[in-house]
Amino acid sequence: MADSSLQEYLCPNCGGPLEFNGEQQKMVCVYCESSFDMSEVKKNSGNDVSGEWTQSEGAKLEAGAEGVKEYTCDSCGAVMVCDGQLGATECPYCGNPAIMESVFTGMNLPDGIIPFANDKKVAQEAMENYYKGKKLLPPGFVNSNRLEEIKGVYVPFWLFDCDCNASGFYTATKERTFEENGSKFKETKEYAVSRIAKMRYEKVPADGAKEMRDEYMDSIEPFDYSKIIPYDPAYFSGYLASKYDETADDVKPRVNGRIKNTSEEKLRESVTGYDSVHADRVSVDIKQGKVTYCMLPVWMLTTRWNGNAYTFAMNGQTGKVTGDLPIDKGQCTKHFCITFAIAAVICFLVSYFLFSLSIGPAIGASAVISAIIAFIALSSAKSAMVSHVKTEAKHYFVDSAYKMLSSNDKHVRTRKEKIETPNS
Ligand SMILES: [Zn+2]
Ligand SMILES: [Zn+2]
Repeated sequence: MADSSLQEYLCPNCGGPLEFNGEQQKMVCVYCESSFDMSEVKKNSGNDVSGEWTQSEGAKLEAGAEGVKEYTCDSCGAVMVCDGQLGATECPYCGNPAIMESVFTGMNLPDGIIPFANDKKVAQEAMENYYKGKKLLPPGFVNSNRLEEIKGVYVPFWLFDCDCNASGFYTATKERTFEENGSKFKETKEYAVSRIAKMRYEKVPADGAKEMRDEYMDSIEPFDYSKIIPYDPAYFSGYLASKYDETADDVKPRVNGRIKNTSEEKLRESVTGYDSVHADRVSVDIKQGKVTYCMLPVWMLTTRWNGNAYTFAMNGQTGKVTGDLPIDKGQCTKHFCITFAIAAVICFLVSYFLFSLSIGPAIGASAVISAIIAFIALSSAKSAMVSHVKTEAKHYFVDSAYKMLSSNDKHVRTRKEKIETPNS
């Protein structure tokens, strides 16, 4: 109903998109039936997520703290801190073997920390298992892995808590066909549907380390937050800790996007009973957004293969592993051919014996179907080799706090069109 050119203007009353009504010479809202002069309406800022996040002011570990060493990787820019016992010999993020020891310049301490819950041996085994069943891996890659180089790193994370009001405005239709005087008609009833709900999200995570690829950290979610404890320097002993180089503000757009997508999905689920539903506008208003800073445990390993670095990360609490693996062209061809051959034989037997096709068409049909099957199988095997960025926040949605505040389904107009005339 509200076409995109008019969505620039929002109803000051309910936030829905406005339409211009030529008869009234006014902007009208089909959702709440208000009408306004052009001068009264507000322009859509284009910002679908509004509201502020406030950040806790953490303690600081000052320069000069005893036994603390700082390392900088000049390849990826990571800055890490560790206690005197542990020397860092290579960068856990990019595998650069020449990281520089530098003067400790102090660091912001986290509000909380989740200590490592599994040891190096468990991490090594989990990495080994990760390679198993990955059909497209080049032969020899597994043996070249230096599992002994695996490092425990406390990765800085920003955790976002908020209450929010999410509003959705939809154009929905119900359709039916009927006959009148021998003609067939299609009737479309159009509804203006709006939903406003209260939602809560707890601890939506985003890492604060630029050198750490977002899809790695997203892939090893979730962490068990019930195990967060107040920071104590004793937990750092034997591990590296990264200094954050992305602030909560820097990662906010990613978190807002995740919250928006999940809010949108929750609202959409509540619009039922229609033949079609189109979202005109969905917005999220964040209230009392709060950000805390936390160190989360991650086992890291970087391996070089044919001149490229491959990094693996394992959740130091749950043991979940991720990492992009090299894909071997030869293995792809082999995988494709085997799947194709098996599928082709089955398709041929089915079409020849079961559907009694003659040999020519049976071969043709089998070839086409098998090629499709082999292609799908190859794509899914490839997708298992890479990690993916998270674009939703379902896991952090608090079900018990979900409350529908307003729910409106209003009939706006009915369209009738003739789809068949009787033969005269
Ligand atoms: Zn309105
Ligand atoms: Zn590095």
